[in-house]
Amino acid sequence: MSHSARIFCNECGREQQHKVAASHDSFNAEGEVEITRTAELLECGGCGYTILRRKVHFSEFQYQPGDLDPDPEYIPGQKLRQEPVWLVSLSTNMREAFSETIRALNYDMPYLAAVGVRTVLDMVLVSKVGDYGRFETKLRKLEKNCHVTSSERERLNVLAEVGNAAAHRGFRADIGDLGIMIDILERIVQKLHVDPEKDKELSDHAKRIGAGVPPRP
Ligand SMILES: [Zn+2]
Repeated sequence: MSHSARIFCNECGREQQHKVAASHDSFNAEGEVEITRTAELLECGGCGYTILRRKVHFSEFQYQPGDLDPDPEYIPGQKLRQEPVWLVSLSTNMREAFSETIRALNYDMPYLAAVGVRTVLDMVLVSKVGDYGRFETKLRKLEKNCHVTSSERERLNVLAEVGNAAAHRGFRADIGDLGIMIDILERIVQKLHVDPEKDKELSDHAKRIGAGVPPRP
């Protein structure tokens, strides 16, 4: 049995060496075939975060129980994409919709991820320009009000189109492309919802700090 493994750590956000902190085997049989189920507690060498790895071994396999299972199950699964740290500063609805969209991406659910991107984008549009019917109209109004540039509007229009196609025409977007779509969405949410709040916070601090500076003689 291997006592360490190099696997992805959700907390560190990268591959790390993990040690097998505990292991348990259970056995049963179906006819001539013996089945060994192994549960291992893996501890990250970088941060100490623990996950469960489950393996199944049938006596017909060439390799030994507990080793080299080609398809072990990890609980929780790998979070390929991390949530941005500023997500907590968004409204509850937008935060939950964004978080669910990232989860859909991480669980390889392209239809749900595409619809999620469109849903978050719609929330952004409604919050900035009101509910003006069609997506295209809202996007044009967003540009007219100088919230986005023309090239940003064109990018956002693609997100809306992919979301529509997934919801209404059974379009299954490439999972890598969905990662890029979430990059685009993150940039716009940060620009329109996160940065203005941060700017205001820093301005308030600057005023407070400035008020405490002694005047020149
Ligand atoms: Zn870690």
